[in-house]
Amino acid sequence: MDYEPVIGLETHVQLKTKSKMWCGCANEFGAPPNTNVCPVCLGLPGALPVANEEALRLTVLTGLLLHCEITPYAKFDRKNYFYPDMPKNYQITQYDKPSTRAGYLEFEFDGGIRRVHINRAHLEEDVGKSFHFDRSSGVDFNRAGVPLLEIVTEPDIASSEMACSYLNALKEVLIYGGISDADMEKGMVRCDVNVSIRLKGTTELGRKIEIKNMNSFSGVRHALEYEIPRQIEVLSKGGKLVQETRRWDDGGGITETMRSKEMAHDYRYFPEPDLMPFVPTAQWLAEVAARVVELPMAKKQRFIREYQLPASDAQTFVWDVPLGNYFEAIAKKSQNPKAIANWVINNLRAKLTETQTTLAELKFKPEKILELIALVESKKISTSIAQTVFAEMFATGDAPAQIVEKKGLAQVSDTGSIEIFCDEVIAANQKSADDFRAGKAAALNFLKGQVMKLSKGKANPNVVGEILEKKLRLS
Ligand code: ADP
Ligand code: MG
Ligand code: ZN
Repeated sequence: MDYEPVIGLETHVQLKTKSKMWCGCANEFGAPPNTNVCPVCLGLPGALPVANEEALRLTVLTGLLLHCEITPYAKFDRKNYFYPDMPKNYQITQYDKPSTRAGYLEFEFDGGIRRVHINRAHLEEDVGKSFHFDRSSGVDFNRAGVPLLEIVTEPDIASSEMACSYLNALKEVLIYGGISDADMEKGMVRCDVNVSIRLKGTTELGRKIEIKNMNSFSGVRHALEYEIPRQIEVLSKGGKLVQETRRWDDGGGITETMRSKEMAHDYRYFPEPDLMPFVPTAQWLAEVAARVVELPMAKKQRFIREYQLPASDAQTFVWDVPLGNYFEAIAKKSQNPKAIANWVINNLRAKLTETQTTLAELKFKPEKILELIALVESKKISTSIAQTVFAEMFATGDAPAQIVEKKGLAQVSDTGSIEIFCDEVIAANQKSADDFRAGKAAALNFLKGQVMKLSKGKANPNVVGEILEKKLRLS
């Protein structure tokens, strides 16, 4: 019998705000332990929370980017549990009235475009971080109360590869929207993976297993690559799966039982009495909507369509936003955007990396690239000389035409002077000349190279080819 996996992801993302969710403590990574804390985020009795408005804006903005419905009335709830990293003994979250629901994310996968439905994106708070030493443990509460967005998918994901593509696409959207830095290394994105198995062709969902707190996309992939065959094996041997929470052991490469799955009623959810429900005004919503940006996939498709770029160039400009903006500013003024993309990706980007400079530090105006391309297109300079001109332009900021003039780099198409070079080269390379006459076509390229060298790269290579061939055939 053929089984197929069904996967749903719950992704937790730290929001990019200056301060924490309910207090004025800094939301920053890497501060000495327990330095960004106050009575509110330490859960001291009597301390009252005040909602961070920017976190609410970023939540709604995420909802808009993920095509969600923005709920006109959202509220906060207490999720009660006891754990050392949670000083209040409850987490404030949005339970039955989340800020956003019912959206989707589209991304490229397996040669097509896939859509994963989003059940909800709701706002909650992060917890502290536990550390275990040789003989003791400690908790750093700097992270406690950091605004956290939980983005929950429908069980729409059909493989471990698709789960990774979804996560990468989500991360790109979050970075594009300025929602989160989404830095995995700093634990800014964590993921719970839900997976079940069913017979291919059936629609009823199987019993799901939840793998908690994955902090890398490769971890998600490996955990699924272990867990899916494990479930298939249990079922195909006639066994039964229990709904449970498992832990991924990265070192061992296995998942193992953590606890039987807790149910909603275990948490004794109730409305947070210290916070008002959130009812955004039309004007507030309009202000957030004004922050909606073009999504990465839409941008890629637009670059392919508007500028006739190959997908790989378009992808480069999606990943490197400043470079893409730079390209677009010049491409708009040109008939030949592909030539611009080549210069920007192959030459400009390479030079920036080599010299460790940024676009903002460039000494020349973007339009100078257009001038350089025009010199090549009008055959004033050859493509190889254009590299020299570009290097000089990069170093000095001088205009390309000026550089060509100053350094005498203009391409020689005047046949008189090229003929002299050709005669010289044929005289000095009789053997190659004979080879060519004997039918060895490659010998011509060698001779051509010699003429180019003699002209210091300035001869027009097409003219050189024509003259050489004519002379060799005649003599
Ligand atoms: P819970 O209340 O246990 O957290 P939810 O219904 O809220 O369960 O779903 C949590 C996540 O699990 C969602 O991403 C959802 O898509 C996914 N999910 C739900 N049922 C299944 C299933 N049978 N198989 C795989 N994923 C599932
Ligand atoms: Mg859950
Ligand atoms: Zn605080």
